[in-house]
Order: sequence, then C-alpha cells, then structure tokens
Amino acid sequence: MEGKKLLQAKKLHESIVVVDAHCDVLMTLIGEGRRLGEHSQQGHVDLPRLKMGGVKLQFFAAFIESEFKPERAVKRVLQLLDLFYRELEDNRQDLALVTGCTELKQAVEQGKVGALLTVEGGEALGEDLAVLRALYRLGVRGLGLTWNQRNALGDGVGEAVTGGGLTNFGREVVREMNRLGMLVDVSHLSEAGFWNVLEVSTKPIIASHSNCAALCPHRRNLSDEQIIALAKQGGVVGVTFAPDFVHPETAALAGVLDHIVHIAELVGARHVGIGSDFDGIAATPVGLEDVGKLPGITLGLLERGFSERDIEMIMGKNLLRVLEQVL
Ligand SMILES: [Zn+2]
Repeated sequence: MEGKKLLQAKKLHESIVVVDAHCDVLMTLIGEGRRLGEHSQQGHVDLPRLKMGGVKLQFFAAFIESEFKPERAVKRVLQLLDLFYRELEDNRQDLALVTGCTELKQAVEQGKVGALLTVEGGEALGEDLAVLRALYRLGVRGLGLTWNQRNALGDGVGEAVTGGGLTNFGREVVREMNRLGMLVDVSHLSEAGFWNVLEVSTKPIIASHSNCAALCPHRRNLSDEQIIALAKQGGVVGVTFAPDFVHPETAALAGVLDHIVHIAELVGARHVGIGSDFDGIAATPVGLEDVGKLPGITLGLLERGFSERDIEMIMGKNLLRVLEQVL
C-alpha cells in the first residue's frame, strides 16, 4: 500500500509543472562563491537539486541586504541580476529565463528549469519609476514592495509601532506594475500596506512566502481575513518553509502541509502555492532540507487526501494562472 502511494506521488510529481515562488540563492551565490550549475553540499538551491526536486519554474529573488539600503540598493540589485545573467550564460542547457508564459512552455518542453526574476525590497527602485521600468526591461517580473523595514513605498511588518500603509509612491509603483505586467508581492509588507495594495491593484497579487497566522502567530504570517481577501481578488499564497513561520517550536514537513491544508480549507486549493524561501533561511523544516526534497510535499498531500488535480494546482498551476493574468 505505502509503496503504491510512493509510486503514484513520484509519477504525479514528474508530470506537474512545479513552481517555487521564492528563493534567495542569488544572495548566497554572491556571498559564498559557489556556482548554480554545481551540486553543492552548501545551501539549498542549485541546478542539480532543482532538477531532483522536479522544479520547472523557480522564482529567483534579488534580495537587498540591509547594509546596502538605501543608498547602494540600486547598484546591489544590478550586481545580483548580473550574477544571474552570468549563470544563465554558463548553464544555457539547463536554465532558461522566463519573462512570459510562452518562454515557460518552451523551457518545460526542453527539460530546462525556468527562472523568473524578482526583486525583494522596493529600495531597489531608488524612489524612481524609471528604475522600475528599467528593471522590467532587464527581465524582472515581480517585486516584493518592502522587506521588514520601512522604505519609500511603505512600511514593512517590522514597523508595527507606526503600522503605516503604502505611500503615494508605493501606490504609483503598484499601478505601474499593473500596467507593465509585473507581479505585486505583499510578503513582508505591513498589514495596512497589504489592504492598500488590494485597494489599488487591478490584478491578482501574491504573498510569495508567507504562512497562516491562525496556525503560527508570527508577524510575517497572514491572518485568515487577509487570506480570504487576497483569494477573493484571485491571488495566491506561497506557503513557506521558514521554520519560525511554520511552527513556534518544531518545524517539519507535516507542519508545512498543515498550512497548505488550512488555506485550502479556508479559500480552496486554487489559492495556495509553494514559496520555499530556500537559501534565505538559516534552518529548514525536517524533511525539507533542500529543494531536492520538494516531491515530499506531493506525497504528503496525497496522503492527506488531496486529489491529483488539487495537488497539481497547489504545486504550480495556481501560480501559473496568476502569471498568465498578470504578465
Ligand atoms: Zn523574504
């Protein structure tokens, strides 16, 4: 019986377009000097392990570390994008830049890992919409408006004392992203900012790496009310593996499944996806030590009674639907 389920999960996982909505491997590559094409014992993401994990589309975030903010943020994001493009040149046979749904289809057909470029932290815009448009031309298709601190776009979740929402500039950024065809990402944004984005955005939005506050009350997790509102607008929550956001004491694969189940029960399986945060987290849940372990989620969801159709949506199709609507 157990062997049968394992085989079913393996077959299913291989047939699915698996999408991971957030990782920070670019930051670790620039810091540690390891290469994307080499199977490493360090970190969580590289091309061999992405293939082991069956990932067809990986979001690569350019994360701006605090030491670069705000003055050197634009330069830092360009350095990270340059690093990505050098890795792309060296790994053309295994990696493809995805800026739209046609490229993704091609990448999948050619057995390559698709890469969607995103930026984590609106400091990268240098307070100028021209920079946003230039980043779009460089292939960036998603932006997390803030990290935990305040920036020119709005307050992050770390600014609980003031709890401010989006600034006028932040609202302009959301409108321009809607116009260009970029994914607005509300992970790390203050709750007030979250509601402002839903008011302003004419397109579905994502929380690329956030969990449920109902199961684990952490400032980075979303309340049921937020999840319901995001889903109503067609958005998707990428359930994340950051141990503190999974469970206050012990984080394991089962805990990650609990968050997926909670969102599916609250708003339906159409509004939940995966946003690992691999290489952005110091520790990982037991059973999800690196991106090669993603098939364990497919197996876990089968064991929890999800249909193959629902699992296909959760593991990627939901995020693809939003991409199709936005890009
Ligand atoms: Zn993050």
